[in-house]
Amino acid sequence: MIDIDVPGFGRLQLSRLVCDFNGTLARDGRLLDELRDPIARLAKTIEVHVATADTFGTAKGELTGIPCDVVVLQGDDQALAKAALVERFGANSVVAVGNGRNDRLMLASAALGIGVIGDEGLAGDALAASDIVTRCATEALQLLLEPRRIIATLRD
Ligand SMILES: [Mg+2]
Repeated sequence: MIDIDVPGFGRLQLSRLVCDFNGTLARDGRLLDELRDPIARLAKTIEVHVATADTFGTAKGELTGIPCDVVVLQGDDQALAKAALVERFGANSVVAVGNGRNDRLMLASAALGIGVIGDEGLAGDALAASDIVTRCATEALQLLLEPRRIIATLRD
């Protein structure tokens, strides 16, 4: 559990990370190597769920051995499917991380939404729905590993 009180923003009690895969944790369907260690460290604090359409069909294989739950979402409306997953977990307990337009609804509904620019860019609608924007997923995960940085960014 990440439990922080952010002046003006509110108290965050985060027990689950819901993270996009392609463009956020992965490039061209391959997990970014530098994320293996921070994901493993973060998984000791909160549950890690990777929500993906799995466009490249590689997510489960790439995440083998990484302490996370891979949720391959079906259907054409990925934005609604990702948001529904966050709601099912209880949006107040979720930090969402993503880069795509279809991440916008989960970024908006999660207690904390972190948009990632990464190598593929951050969709404008996802940017608007984010509480914080980072340059890459490594930085997003570092914020969660060092939550006082979140307070510094979001406080009044
Ligand atoms: Mg993406």
